[in-house]
Amino acid sequence: MNLDFDTNLALGYHSNLQKIRIMSESWVVDNAYCVRCGNKLNHFKNNKPVGDMYCKKCKEEFELKSNKAKLGKKIVDGAYSTMIEKIENGDVPNFFYLNYSLKDYKVNNLLIIPKHYLTKEIIIKRPPLPQTARRAGCIGCNIDVSLIPESGKLYLVKNGHEENRDIVIDNFNKMLFLRKSKGELRGWLLDVLKCIELLNKKEFALNEVYSFEKYLKTKHPKNNNIQAKIRQQLQMLRDYGYLAFTKRGQYILL
Ligand SMILES: [Zn+2]
Repeated sequence: MNLDFDTNLALGYHSNLQKIRIMSESWVVDNAYCVRCGNKLNHFKNNKPVGDMYCKKCKEEFELKSNKAKLGKKIVDGAYSTMIEKIENGDVPNFFYLNYSLKDYKVNNLLIIPKHYLTKEIIIKRPPLPQTARRAGCIGCNIDVSLIPESGKLYLVKNGHEENRDIVIDNFNKMLFLRKSKGELRGWLLDVLKCIELLNKKEFALNEVYSFEKYLKTKHPKNNNIQAKIRQQLQMLRDYGYLAFTKRGQYILL
């Protein structure tokens, strides 16, 4: 994978924003790949916002966000209401986050946040734009990346090195089961996944997951039986082949 932007593409553009947009978008189409099937990506033709691409073979859709800063706590996105609507209808794309070096126009990091990790709970409203702004009153949103489990941040390029393609594709596909549950159910599944990740163990006990009860209660204040909810998610994760029960109250990640 060539990690350099093609700077020839930027000739004739004046604003830095436009230069980066054109170079990063072309770079992704020429060098990245569909994380579901490994195929090459394509630009959308016409009436689609820039930065969007798709895979002809499996029809996955992608949106590119480029930034000279590494991935932080949040990603700034467009209109809040549009984003919520897309999540509800299931037509939200997978998000590529490309972090480049402005000094030498090189890709430092490229990661993908699969669409099955995007729930309404992680979309945060921004304050409306001031009256002086061109789009006064518009309400944008941030994607709160800190709430996403680590398995939902797949690096294709990390610190200037390409990651193994087969592993990336494998990691994307093994979590596709998340798409089977919708809305609040998916939210619960992702919350429990995040707790399991925080344990950072291959084998763990039910009691250890229960230790996140308080945290989960803050996220789901109306629920009065958090422990039952935890057990239900663990059962679903077992049915999906993510983990197995070894003996009573003991689990192993597969
Ligand atoms: Zn594909």
